[in-house]
Formats: sequence, C-alpha cells, structure tokens
Amino acid sequence: MKTVLVQIGRRTLEVEVLGEGDPSTVQTLEIQADIENGLAVKQAIVAYLQRRYWFLKDDVLEEEPSQRFELELASGVSVELTVLGSEISILRINEICEALAQFRMRLRNKDYWKVRSIQVQAEDVPNPKNGQLKRGCEFPMEGRFYLYPTAFHEQDRYRKCLPCSWLQGVTIHETTHVCLEPVSPFVRAWDAAEELSWSKTTPGTLVRHPGGFESRLVNLRPQLCPTPYAALLPDDDRAESVVALLFKGDLHQKRHEILISQAFFERTNEMPRWRVKILPRQIPKLPHFSFRCLPSSDELFEAVGIPAPQVEPRIYDVETYRELIRCGQLHGQPSTSASL
Ligand SMILES: [Zn+2]
Repeated sequence: MKTVLVQIGRRTLEVEVLGEGDPSTVQTLEIQADIENGLAVKQAIVAYLQRRYWFLKDDVLEEEPSQRFELELASGVSVELTVLGSEISILRINEICEALAQFRMRLRNKDYWKVRSIQVQAEDVPNPKNGQLKRGCEFPMEGRFYLYPTAFHEQDRYRKCLPCSWLQGVTIHETTHVCLEPVSPFVRAWDAAEELSWSKTTPGTLVRHPGGFESRLVNLRPQLCPTPYAALLPDDDRAESVVALLFKGDLHQKRHEILISQAFFERTNEMPRWRVKILPRQIPKLPHFSFRCLPSSDELFEAVGIPAPQVEPRIYDVETYRELIRCGQLHGQPSTSASL
C-alpha cells in the first residue's frame, strides 16, 4: 500500500493506493489505471472523485456555499440543494421542492427517480442552443443538475407559454433529463413515433439554431411541440412535454400518450408531502479513501479501420431548412432510436 497526495481544486487529499495483497475496506474504490504509472493513477483518482462529489468539480466556486438545504420529497427520499451564489428566499426553495415532489409522486416506477443533488450556480452562462442564458444543466450519470441565477429572475410564465413559473419549469425539465433519459423503452418509444415529426437532416446537411447550435436532427412541425425550446432536440422535447403534462399545459396527443404509457400516472388525488430542512453551510468532510487499480481497458477504445473522409456539411438556418422540406426541395429521413 502507498499513500498518494492528489490536488483537486483547492483541496489536497491524501489517499491510499492498495497493492495486490492489501485487503479492501468499505471505503475502497476501484479505478482503471496502471499502478506503476503514478500520473495515470492520480488522474484516475481525480476523475473518479469528481464524478462522485460535485463539490470537487473544477467549475465550483472556491468559497463555502451560501446556503444548503435538504429537500425531503417523501419518507426516506431527499435531495441536497446547495446555493453557491447569492442567497435565495425560502419561498423559492419551497417551489423547487414541491416541483420535485410532484414529479416523483407522479412517476409510475419510483426506481426511475435518480436526482440526488442540485447546485445553484453563482454566475449565468450562455446557452448555445437558443442564444439565451442557460437556466439549467443536467448530469444524469451523477444524479444531479445545476440551476442558474436567471431561472430565479424570470417573471413570465415558463417559456411564455406554459402555466407554471420558470423555476418550476426548469426544475422539471432538468429532472426529466436526469431521471428519464436513461430509461430506454421511454426514449425508444419517443424516437420511433413518427407523429412527433423528428427527422434526420438530408445527408450532407445540418441545421443551425438561433444560438449557433448545429444538429443533424430537426423537428418538422415545431408548432406541435409544447414550447419552442422543445423543437431543438428530442430530449428537450421530452423534458418540455413533462413540464406540460405536470402543469396541465397544452400537450400533443401522442406525446401525452407516450408519457402516460411509459413513465407517469395519468393523475392522482394524492398531495405530495414535502419538507425543506436547512443544513449547515459547510460542505461535509470527505471520508478517507483507498483505491485499488484494475487493468486499464484503453485498448477497447482504440480506433478500428480507416476513418471516412471528412466532407464539409451544408448548413441551413433551421427555418430555411423546414421551408425547403415543405416545398419538396430537400428530403428528410425518419429518425429512429438506433440512429440518435
Ligand atoms: Zn434540456
């Protein structure tokens, strides 16, 4: 066994790397790295810990958080919410908690619930998909998402068209990404439904959205999507449709049908019983870890064969592309889950 010092953000952690005959403990974590390669071992440790502990990420502020809360959604089900910027009123925290509790209560299969933590970032960042500011950002593999300050400042109804606040809408949108994107029958049913009008662009072409985001997928009937944002990508269509379902906004029949058959109860008379608990501001201390190195599987990812020659795609403004499809000058292709 040897002791290794790793630098993660502002922290220096002392961890143990076990040798072949050393016994594992409950805090032994497995990484893929060559034990003889000190740098690779350190990099694998940092990557592992950053996946597991959001507060070790490079984009988290240096200071202690302003506020921390435990959002209790049901007996034994909690989400940790940490505010990294300006303080937020308890009323807004309640709004988030109630939206999460509604989502979970309506879920048909509670095993789909995957949100463990939410962080409210201190600074806004641009969203290349629509050219506005980002309101949220999801990390499904880590069971968490960010909310950005602008989600708390918008006064309008959600996307100006759904009957809920921006904060409620963004909370449900990001929760859908975290909980339902990993559910393959749900995603497959969505991608296979031609009525939802998702299509691959004509070979050799891309569409460009107002924020500069380019895509090989396009929705040919955006007027049937629950919001303009839903017409950007199928996963955003799913997330916006869940907001419409839970807050009784207008929802296309096929979208409603898939949500109800795959993920949610139609309705329930039950009221969620949720509770917000204030936690101490400090991030909890990390436990003492040991790591065991397993052989690296890098060779599995080596490129095979000769790469295809790169051809510059032709890029159309998304509205122009839809118009060209409408008048028959371009032909899209149906999209299926296998191709997304
Ligand atoms: Zn999204």
